[in-house]
Amino acid sequence: MIAGHFGFAAMVKARERSAPLWMLMLASVWLDIVFVPLFVAGIETIQPVQGRLGYGSSLIHADYTHSIIGMLVLSAALGAIAWPKWGRRSAIVIGLVAVSHWALDLIVHRPDMPILPANALQLPLLGFGLWQMPTASAALELTLVLAGAWLYWRAARAVCLKAQRGMRLAVIATLLIAASGILILCLDLTS
Ligand SMILES: [Zn+2]
Repeated sequence: MIAGHFGFAAMVKARERSAPLWMLMLASVWLDIVFVPLFVAGIETIQPVQGRLGYGSSLIHADYTHSIIGMLVLSAALGAIAWPKWGRRSAIVIGLVAVSHWALDLIVHRPDMPILPANALQLPLLGFGLWQMPTASAALELTLVLAGAWLYWRAARAVCLKAQRGMRLAVIATLLIAASGILILCLDLTS
């Protein structure tokens, strides 16, 4: 799930204007960004389910970045990085958007997300497994993308009307959000 996270970031941007959209989008996939070097180093791994890798058909052993404790530490760190530039309120929002990644992942992941880093104490793994129904999970992602684009458009339109300026940039940004979200979802589905 990448498109769904971006859709959620656009929804937040519609309500929280002080934080830049690109930073909210980065925050929405922050845990996956940190996952990449750990994956390359072989510390976190992806295990195919039923012998194939594709949309939602894997167990993701992101035992540090996607553990509850790891997620809280990484989200707090991103908020702390954002604080000096965008202030306390935006830093908290950015940190919470990073947390939202974990919450959305919880819906789609098979039970592979630990509570403690490295699955210490062997506590139960978390994940509701919506990926086992790829159509439903893709529909959820598409809904997030379209809702995000729609809410962003409504907020941007209101700002333009208030400032009595043209809406060209708002239209372009909205179309970019919708188009890039759908494109990413298509790439994810055909991977
Ligand atoms: Zn993730």
